[in-house]
Order: sequence, then C-alpha cells, then structure tokens
Amino acid sequence: MEKKKKESDIQILRRLFSLYAVHNKSTIVFGILCAVVTGVRPYIMIILSGILIDGLLNGMAFRTLILWLFGGLILNWAAESLEAWFREGFNGRVENCLERQNRDMNEKSLYSDYENLENPELQEKKRKQEQVVNVRGGIYWMLIWPMDKGLTGVITVISAVVVAAPLFAGGSGAGHPGLAVLSVALAVMVVACSLASYKNSDYWNKKIRKVFDQYAKCNRVSNYILHNILTDSETGKDLRIFGQQELIEEGVLGQRQEALDRLKEIRRQAMAQSGIEATLTTVNCGMIYLYAAFKAYLGLITVGSVVKYASGIIECITGIKNILFCVTGWRQAVDYGREYLEYLEFENRIEDGTEPVAENRDKSIQLECEHVSFRYPGTEEDVIHDLNLKIALRPGDHIAIVGRNGSGKTTFIKLLCRLYTVTEGVIRLNGRDIRDYTYQEYVDVFSVVFQDYRMFSLELGENIAASEEVDQERALDSMRKAGLGHRLEKLPHGLDTYVGKEFEESGVNFSGGERQKLAIARAIYKDAPFVIMDEPTAALDPISECDVYESFDRLVGHKAAVYISHRLASCRFCDRILVFADGGVVQNGSHEALVEQEGLYRQMWNAQAQWYADGAEA
Ligand code: ADP
Repeated sequence: MEKKKKESDIQILRRLFSLYAVHNKSTIVFGILCAVVTGVRPYIMIILSGILIDGLLNGMAFRTLILWLFGGLILNWAAESLEAWFREGFNGRVENCLERQNRDMNEKSLYSDYENLENPELQEKKRKQEQVVNVRGGIYWMLIWPMDKGLTGVITVISAVVVAAPLFAGGSGAGHPGLAVLSVALAVMVVACSLASYKNSDYWNKKIRKVFDQYAKCNRVSNYILHNILTDSETGKDLRIFGQQELIEEGVLGQRQEALDRLKEIRRQAMAQSGIEATLTTVNCGMIYLYAAFKAYLGLITVGSVVKYASGIIECITGIKNILFCVTGWRQAVDYGREYLEYLEFENRIEDGTEPVAENRDKSIQLECEHVSFRYPGTEEDVIHDLNLKIALRPGDHIAIVGRNGSGKTTFIKLLCRLYTVTEGVIRLNGRDIRDYTYQEYVDVFSVVFQDYRMFSLELGENIAASEEVDQERALDSMRKAGLGHRLEKLPHGLDTYVGKEFEESGVNFSGGERQKLAIARAIYKDAPFVIMDEPTAALDPISECDVYESFDRLVGHKAAVYISHRLASCRFCDRILVFADGGVVQNGSHEALVEQEGLYRQMWNAQAQWYADGAEA
C-alpha cells in the first residue's frame, strides 16, 4: 500500500485556516482591522510625548503646545474607539471558534460509519480533541488568537521601524568608540533576547503539551466515570448491589487528583515561562534606554527623542515577540490540528452506491449470501465464516434465526443492514450487491428492533416517528399494535409525554418491557417492507410475550420478517428456520423438518422442552 506523504506544517495550517474561513471570513477581516489599529495606536502617544518634551525644552509657544496636546489626545481617543469597535466585532466572531469545532465534530460523529464508533484509535482522537476544546479553547481558537497577536506584531514592527529608524540614522557617533560598541551590543542583545524569547516559549510549549496530554487522559477517564457510570441508573443498580462505590470513588478521586496535579504543573511551567520572558524584556529595555540616553548625552539626538525612540524600539521588540508568539502558537495548533484533520477526514468505508432499490414485481425479497466472511475491525478472527445462503421472502413470510450465544446472528443482521461491510464475499438483495444501492434508500427497506435498542429522552411521539414531524394517528396506532394501548391512556400528555426525566420533570420512566414495546412501535411506524426483530421479547413478561407472538402477523402486517429468538416455541410458526453455529448456517428448514433431524436445533429444542416439562411436573 502506498504510504501517504506527511503534510508539511504550512499545508496543515493552510487547510485549517481554509476550514475555518469557510464559515468565518469576517473574523479574519476584523482580525486584520484590529491588528492595524492596535499596532499603530501606541505610537500616537509615543510621538506626542517626544514632541511635547522637545517643545518644553526648546521653548515652544504655549498655544502650539496645547494644540499638539489636544490634537494628539483626540487622535488617540479616535484610535482607541476604533480599536474597541473592531475588537468587539472580532471578539463576537471569535466566540464561534469553540462552537465551530464542536459542530464539525458532532457532524462527523453523526454521519460517520457505525463501525467507526467502535474504532478505538478514532475515538481516542475524538476524545483528545474534546479536551482541546475544553481546555485550550479548540483548534480554531489556537489559530485565531496567535493570528491576532501576530498581525498586530507585524503592524507594530512596521510602525516602529518608521518611528525609531532615525535613532540609528541620526548621527553615526563617529569619534565616540563607546557609542559604536554600544550600538553593536544593542543589536546583538536585541537579536539574542528575541531568539531566546522564541526558544523559551517554544521549549515551554512543548513541555506543556506533554503534560497537557497526561492531563487530558486523566480528565477523559474521570469524565467517563462521572458521565457513564455515576449518572446511569442501569449501572447504578449494579454499583449498589455489588458495593462498587469505593472502587469508583477511588478511581474518580485518583484521576481527578492526577488531573489537578498536571494542571498545577502546567501553571508552574507557564509561570517559569513568564518569569524568563520578563527578565529578557527588562534586559532589552535597559539596553535600549542606555543607548538612546547616551546618544542624547552626546547631543546626537534631542531629549524628547529619547522617549520616542526608546519606546518605539521597545514596542518593536514587543511586536517581534508577538510575531514569535504567533509562530509558536501556530506550531502548537498544527500539532493538534494534524490529529483534528485526521479525525475529520477519517473516511467512511461504507460505500454509498448509486442504484435505487427497485421492488420485485411480486414484492418478494430475494436475499443471497455468497462466501460471506466478516471480522470486526481490530480483531483477528472471523465471526461470520464463508456463509452461503439463498432465501426468497414473499410478503408475509417469516423466518427465524436461532443459535447459541455468540454464533453470529446479530452480526449477520448488522451486515444485512449495512452497519458493517463484509470482509469477503457479497450479500445480494434482489440480485444486486447491497453496496450498489444508495445507502439511505437501502436502509429504508428495513424496520429493525435490535436487542440493545435505545429510546431518547425526547417526546414519545418523536421517539416513535424518529422525527420531529409526527403523524399522530399512525403513532397512536403503532403504539396500540405494540401492546401499549393501556399505557397510552394513562400518560399525562399522550404522545407529547417525555420519555425519562432528563429533559422534563413530567417525563415518564418506562419499564424495560414497555421500552421494548416502544421499540417495536417505532419499527411498526416506519412501515418498511422488511421487518427484523432481534430478540424482540427478551424484556417482556410472559403474557406480553405471548401477545407479541400471537399478534405477530398483525404487528408486521403482510411483510417479510426475520426474527432472532431463543424461545424456540415461537419459531414453530415461522416458515423457515436458520440455525447459526460458529458464524455459519448449519441447518435450514421448517420446525417439523428440523426436530426430526439429528443436530443443534433438536438439541436446543429438547433442552428447552425438557425444562418446561420438568417445570410443569414440579
Ligand atoms: P449472537 O447474536 O449470535 O449472540 P453476535 O453476532 O452478537 O452473536 O456475536 C458474534 C461474535 O462476535 C461474538 O463472539 C462476539 O463476542 C463478537 N462480537 C460482537 N460484536 C463485536 C464487536 N463490536 N467487536 C468485536 N467482536 C464482536
């Protein structure tokens, strides 16, 4: 396989900016406007100070002095107001940074292949980015903040060069060897301090990044415990019965403490960085004032110019530092951004075909598996192995899939529904590879009730319709068919009742069996031609279970249906039974034919029948 060439930092930076600019061009425009005004504004007062000091020393007319003073102040006020206005616009837009990354990541999660949700590498990348958002304000903030500083730095340096250049031009100081030495020392010092400042922040940023990764890991673990274990009522049961509180408490406390320690370390490192920075700045300032004052002492420049030039150069150094800050900041952003782009661009493996799903003339569904094998991503062994199968389901035909735990029944259904793609072989629906069909059209063929179905804490109607738009009559009818007619009458707000109390205090906590019926109602509402039920009665009481089987025809209508069940008695009513073992179909036929045959089905049937017979005798 051809190895993808690693993109350079500049390429990554460009791509991150393009991604951001798609929705936020105006942030960048406001950033530039802010930078121009912020970069130029300090020079108004610097130049004014120089003029006033020289004016006072050289006997400038009082009126002229006052005019300069007011003119300068008004200009400064105008510049400050403009800066505040631009900054307001900039800050307002910058707040989107956080939101933007969250939105991009949510979109990615929602539209990513199902199998990606189980990909540990990808999920780790996602969790890291969540921490980047929480702790560092997100990738875009890491781009825009340094950009603001960097642009301001550039403008500051340009303005400083214009303002302070005469310090070096005005009088060479020939005949003053001390000045020549000081000039060289100043130049060396400024360059050295700027480089040291750059190295300093780069060094600490790298160190902080390492500690941040450790911090993010601790945070992830404790957040997992806090969100998935402590707030989940299902887990809460086991936690109490098995007395796992201490275990969890120690786990959370340990991780939180570790996270706090890491955070303290980050702060310590940031303080060390600032301390070194302050020292470098002081040395630089001292040198500059010394140089300018010495020139004034020699009479090469005016006293007022000392303030102007020295402040100009100090501003210039601050500008250079801001530019370097921008460079190191962007380097960090690129570091995280590379992973962010890898996450966003992690490709879906499930190909979206182009073929529409055409109905057969007799509305039958032809299903065919040819040498189908499948192994879960990141695992070594096939779960489905060389499966060959051909079935034709007419409307109203029911097929049961039975087999021992772990034999691959649910996996087979997931492959059929294109939640996963086969590793080898091909699955055909109506003679065509299922990958050729447009994904959404194909998925619309199935109504599925999975064993581990989920209901959301939304309104009941929205849960049943799986949409905000609810056909009330159809939803009520589906609920009645699923055996929830009685329950419906007792609900305070009918279909508007919330499932669970997460969003609404008046919400209703449905029992496990009721939730399973809700999942069945959702499948009925979808009204797809092919119904699949994976253990649809596992959580139901015997009477409800009996109801479901007796009314199976009514539930699925005259549709083709496949259902997985361990209650073999219920399979008797199916036209055909597929017996799964070790990832393949080992028996295939009607109940009557299979109980006659030596094999797994008869073994399972006898095991269950004997249990019920013993129970009956007891
Ligand atoms: P059944 O429905 O027959 O009980 P499944 O199809 O759920 O069996 O599982 C078949 C095998 O695949 C089991 O050994 C199970 O551990 C494994 N398996 C199921 N889901 C995953 C997964 N997401 N990743 C790895 N292995 C899995």
